[in-house]
Amino acid sequence: MADALEELRSWQRPLRAQFPIIVANPELAYLDSAATAQKPRAVLDAVQGYLTTSNANAGRGSYPWANATTAVVERARERVKRFLGDPAPERSSVHFTSGASEGLRAVARDWLAGRLADGDEIVVPFADHEANLAPWLEVRELLARQGAKIRVRELPYQNSSGDYDPAALAASVGPRTRFVAATHVHHVYGVDMNVHRIRRVVGPDVPICLDAAQSIGHLPFSVAELDVDFVVFSGHKAMALPGTGAVWARGRRGPEFRPGGWAGTPNTVGIASLAAALDWLDAAGTDRIEAWTVALAARLTDRLSRLGAYEVLGCRSSLAADSEVQRRRSIVAFRHREIPSRDLGFILYGHGFMVRSDGHCQAGAGDADGSVRVSLHVHNTAEEIERLLATLTNLQ
Ligand code: PLP
Repeated sequence: MADALEELRSWQRPLRAQFPIIVANPELAYLDSAATAQKPRAVLDAVQGYLTTSNANAGRGSYPWANATTAVVERARERVKRFLGDPAPERSSVHFTSGASEGLRAVARDWLAGRLADGDEIVVPFADHEANLAPWLEVRELLARQGAKIRVRELPYQNSSGDYDPAALAASVGPRTRFVAATHVHHVYGVDMNVHRIRRVVGPDVPICLDAAQSIGHLPFSVAELDVDFVVFSGHKAMALPGTGAVWARGRRGPEFRPGGWAGTPNTVGIASLAAALDWLDAAGTDRIEAWTVALAARLTDRLSRLGAYEVLGCRSSLAADSEVQRRRSIVAFRHREIPSRDLGFILYGHGFMVRSDGHCQAGAGDADGSVRVSLHVHNTAEEIERLLATLTNLQ
């Protein structure tokens, strides 16, 4: 791990220098990228460039600024497909949203609800982000009001590792299973869910909707390899502006995915920022971003698990980093055995660390104390992790 950090140091340093807000605040460490990501200069420039050269409405006018804006939106659609490694972009579709929550709700309301019949079953996660549970339960309620009973089965968890249990999943899948909602990287446990394994269990024909809010921008992404039908993500967690996101729908289902209603004016500046963010991430190299942040997270996980006062959630050891079944990405959540997590969050800010400390919108978490979540991106450094570990050690 140390080697990965050493090898990538000269690649990472100039990238960190491209985040104005990070450079302007050297005494602070931003460790909350899972909530929203900071923006590199290239994204800020793209926003300024768009607003000062061609700002207009998309798909509505015939003068040059309007045409340029329409082109920005269409290019961004192609950009999303390319970023996702779409093998058949001419057949898939991309729908822009305000974030992952709206995207998941669009798949539920505008695609799934019209395809379920009385007695059908869907499999959904009960311990992931609320955004990936509420829409599916709403579909069940909607259909119940129309007299159709849909059975919602749980995508089962092993809480000790924060991973799905494939054997229990197999038991939840049957001949009436019509849909599976999964998550790529868990927003609390930081675990890569090995979606291809879910595909193996559910078979080739059941549509899978993947919540990729915590993976886009953090690792190389290939819809061809993952073999899913929908990919939903937040643009703002991938370095685009707040209020951005997208749903990608595979060709087989893409033409059928037509979000309903009058969509109104799209967030054109947000869409322009998303294309710029994906350009930046590809140029930086998602493989190296992954190697860097996984190495930082592994260092934090390993050392923190050895401090008696802390309990690390999800998989404990980076020894599992390459395992088939268990891989921690750039998120580490933990609890102090005595200090409540919310208090610990305040204390850490007093030392210059911006972390999230609550229930992290995890479905079913209720009012429980939650945990402190450290989530990393390419601008974070080994020095920040060392400083954090030193502070946490002193708080034992
Ligand atoms: N899904 C996961 C796994 C998340 O972590 C989040 C946000 O934290 C969401 C969905 C919701 O994303 P958004 O804020 O873009 O609606």
